[in-house]
Amino acid sequence: SQPAIRPLVAGNWKMFGLRSALAQIERLRALLAANPPGADCAICPPFTLIDAAIKITAGSAIAIGAQDCHSADEGAHTGDIAAPMLADLGVRHVIIGHSERRTDHGEGDSLVMAKACAAHKAGLSAIICVGETLAQRDAGAALDIVIKQLEGSVPAKANAANSIIAYEPVWAIGTGRTPQTDDIAQMHQAIRSYLTNRFEDGGSMRILYGGSVKPKNAGELMSVAHVNGALVGGASLDSGDFNAILDAYR
Ligand code: PGA
Repeated sequence: SQPAIRPLVAGNWKMFGLRSALAQIERLRALLAANPPGADCAICPPFTLIDAAIKITAGSAIAIGAQDCHSADEGAHTGDIAAPMLADLGVRHVIIGHSERRTDHGEGDSLVMAKACAAHKAGLSAIICVGETLAQRDAGAALDIVIKQLEGSVPAKANAANSIIAYEPVWAIGTGRTPQTDDIAQMHQAIRSYLTNRFEDGGSMRILYGGSVKPKNAGELMSVAHVNGALVGGASLDSGDFNAILDAYR
């Protein structure tokens, strides 16, 4: 029997959002208060909005996350942000190893693992991202690639409280395309088996699906076995859309 897992729906705003976007968080707060979903909810805005977003969401059901952190606690690293700085603001989650960081900044598995360790040390929960490219899927290598990424990216001390896995096929991010539900089920089952083999509470770790999650497909995607929530990009920028995705858990 599977343990009951409280799902998480997290919004990744990426490099979008001026101060005016804080109004979306205020609206979301009101929508969730009026109609609470049976899922945890987080928004990961750009660094510049984090402090204000935490103030706006104080005492609400919305947790605030960040989109990256450095692997060191502090140091001479111009332009970078350390995990203790995020924890100091009241940040709860930090996305680590998103495919855009793996591509734009050449982040490999060992750096992703070091960043996840830094997040854990600061008391943050790490949302560790993995996923295959289209060429890798077409070559039949998707499962192997993702398990190898987990092996290299998820720290030995990961547990259900400090780590969340986000499976995001690179070819589904921002494209409007999603895998067949059978393919998602197969991948999430493989990730679950890997986690249960490696970690004592691996059966309770959350496995999110990410990549073109929208209000119209959320119900179907979130009903797949071992999908314990979503990492939502584009559709998280609008509070109405994000709230409609949460309907999957109402
Ligand atoms: P998308 O992005 O929902 O816009 O496809 C998902 C992500 O990159 O986390």
